[in-house]
Amino acid sequence: MSVVLVVEDEPAIAELIALSLRHAGYEVRQAADAVQAQAQIGGALPDLVLLDWMLPGESGLQLARRWREDARTRALPIIMLTARAEEADKVSGLDAGADDYLAKPFSPRELLARMRAVLRRKAPQALQEPVTLGPLRLDPAAHRLLHEGGAGGTDDPDGEGARELRIGPTEFRLLHFLMRHPNRVHTRAQLLDRVWGDHVFIEERTVDVHIKRLREALAAANCAALVETVRGVGYRMVDGRCSAA
Ligand code: CA
Repeated sequence: MSVVLVVEDEPAIAELIALSLRHAGYEVRQAADAVQAQAQIGGALPDLVLLDWMLPGESGLQLARRWREDARTRALPIIMLTARAEEADKVSGLDAGADDYLAKPFSPRELLARMRAVLRRKAPQALQEPVTLGPLRLDPAAHRLLHEGGAGGTDDPDGEGARELRIGPTEFRLLHFLMRHPNRVHTRAQLLDRVWGDHVFIEERTVDVHIKRLREALAAANCAALVETVRGVGYRMVDGRCSAA
């Protein structure tokens, strides 16, 4: 299920959009201003953002520009919503990095059609882009995990800068998810849902097995500690440095 973040300060419009989206099968998160939106983005990234231009405080336009400058949110699909229908405004919206632009009032049907088009265009590409966390670089397209140790460091005496870590396919997918959603605790059930998908009959204990293997793979670069156990809750990948235990 695709997750959509709706950033809209007018409660009536926000509610109407949320209702249409839920009805169409999307999971909806809401934010009424840039601060709330940024807090939402700081957790798990949504699959798409509907971003109102005119917000109290920082505008949607500024927010879009900021997200485009951040490696983590650079590929985030954004549709700008606005009451401003001037051609010049549309151009600045797209210049700020919006993938599409929708002038109010719009019909739920038109909104859903635009969303599907943007998701089709961007989602597969976003999932194929390399993700970096600390010294780790995961390249989904090449199916490679690199440790960029820094030239001449203790774990890179030859100064080659990066070396490939061996990792199994399930651990690779698990790590890909954790690296895309760092500094956030995921329960075993959430990880099963997001990494294993519809395999509902897998026991939660399976997650522990793959976390253990993932740590073993990362231990080759002294990075096992980046995957933290949060007792009684689940697991968290931290954006930190790797060091020998
Ligand atoms: Ca507004």
